[in-house]
Amino acid sequence: MTTRRQRILGALLGVHAGDSFGAAHEFETWQAIRQRFPPNGAIPRDITGGGPFGWAPGHATDDTDMTRAILLGYRDRDLDTQKGSNTDSLRLARTASKYMLQWFHGPWADRPANSRPSDVGGATARGLMLLTRNASQQTGEVDPRRAGAGHGSCGNGSLMRCIPTALFSSGDALVAETVLLSAVTHNDWRCILACVAYNVMVRALVMDNATPEDAVAAGLDAITSSQTKDTIIAALTVNGQSPDSSTLAECQAEVVAAIDRACLPGFRVADLANQGPHVLIEDDDGQEVDALPLEGRGFVLDSLILAVAAVLDTSRSWEDLVVDVVRVGRDTDTNGAVAGGLVGARDGIEAIPATWRAKLQFGDEFTKIVDQLVGDEA
Ligand SMILES: [Mg+2]
Repeated sequence: MTTRRQRILGALLGVHAGDSFGAAHEFETWQAIRQRFPPNGAIPRDITGGGPFGWAPGHATDDTDMTRAILLGYRDRDLDTQKGSNTDSLRLARTASKYMLQWFHGPWADRPANSRPSDVGGATARGLMLLTRNASQQTGEVDPRRAGAGHGSCGNGSLMRCIPTALFSSGDALVAETVLLSAVTHNDWRCILACVAYNVMVRALVMDNATPEDAVAAGLDAITSSQTKDTIIAALTVNGQSPDSSTLAECQAEVVAAIDRACLPGFRVADLANQGPHVLIEDDDGQEVDALPLEGRGFVLDSLILAVAAVLDTSRSWEDLVVDVVRVGRDTDTNGAVAGGLVGARDGIEAIPATWRAKLQFGDEFTKIVDQLVGDEA
């Protein structure tokens, strides 16, 4: 029996382990991975480090670093709660955003002050620059609603870091905080809705011990409900000025279609890993379609589809699923992180190989924060 604490740790360290494992293959296509590891792309089943940025084994890349920024926001909120201070969703998002800026500018973990991370995504850089530029002139306070790279920037940079909200928030606050923490860099509706769906799935797995099918259904319900829509709009409304929601319905349909595709019986992560992301599957109408459209490097819905398909495959282990997600290629660290978190929420920390866990840069720190935030209740 997996405990709630094990599932919380499985989710958080699943992101870290998937990120650090996939970092060795970042940007490599499925074909390139097969050529490097003949005959079938049998990549080493260990966290080796390396990749285009020459990571040390177990080092965090941006996925884990920004997850950490949000996790530190929840840790600080816990301290605020003990002091009786304001702990609303906007305040939480401001605190987490400040940690994102700390990562962006340094000092951060083993990086000195005034040093940039080596792997900042385009939308993340734009969003964080706007966050700084639009800070209050009187107080210097940052506002995640006055940032974001804009609509059309639909990378996976907010999906890869959103998981702490699923673990330490609930109900409307979970939705509001997920929205704000995506929008600070990724305010395209597809990014926001993907994060909401993902976090609702993670929460259902971790807190309700839901089956993967029920968790995915809960995610779909959440992003199609009018209550969620109202919460999203309210979270992004500043001084009575609501965000432009003219494309929200269209984007909602796109995210729902992506999740539905991952639920098709013929969609198996193992087939994508063995036969390539363009393996043909049958859609609901019996037509053959490409399994993964791969709309672009790091498209948010590609990462979401892989993670949802992985979590629904209950016949396979965390390790097998994450290895195969990475073998699909391209944005391997983020795809590994997003799938690693969702399957980690399903299977718990013990499912992540102990030799992998032992290498994680923030393994001990994340565990300590979880114990501080959930105590004996899990
Ligand atoms: Mg990364």
